[in-house]
Amino acid sequence: MKILKIDHLGIAVNSIEDGKKFWTDVLGLSFEGTETVAEQKVTTAFFPVGESEVELLESTAPDGPIARYIEKKGTGIQHVALRVENIEAALAELKEKGVQLIDQTPRHGAGGAKIAFLHPKATGGVLVELCQRD
Ligand code: ZN
Repeated sequence: MKILKIDHLGIAVNSIEDGKKFWTDVLGLSFEGTETVAEQKVTTAFFPVGESEVELLESTAPDGPIARYIEKKGTGIQHVALRVENIEAALAELKEKGVQLIDQTPRHGAGGAKIAFLHPKATGGVLVELCQRD
């Protein structure tokens, strides 16, 4: 599997409107608007940082994965996303190695990316997202 870089860090927030102030007003990063991924009950906002990005995640529903995450662990870093060259090949390789996956096949993420999550049980407690952007 070819991992190209850390694509982004996903950070769970209660409100993008409030959460973005630190990243834009204090750090001076650019805010490029929000995108809602209905399927995952989440609204995302990306802030480019050099070759990577910070992604803020706000739940659109009380039973969404981000709302449940905040309920259990509070706000903060929720996942690390690695950009891979070929997500299908990466998932096949991980399956062969017996790595526990949340997504057996890629789904659609923000920005037209193909994404898949690995189970934190398989990674030492870190929710790892693979993503492929073409
Ligand atoms: Zn992400």
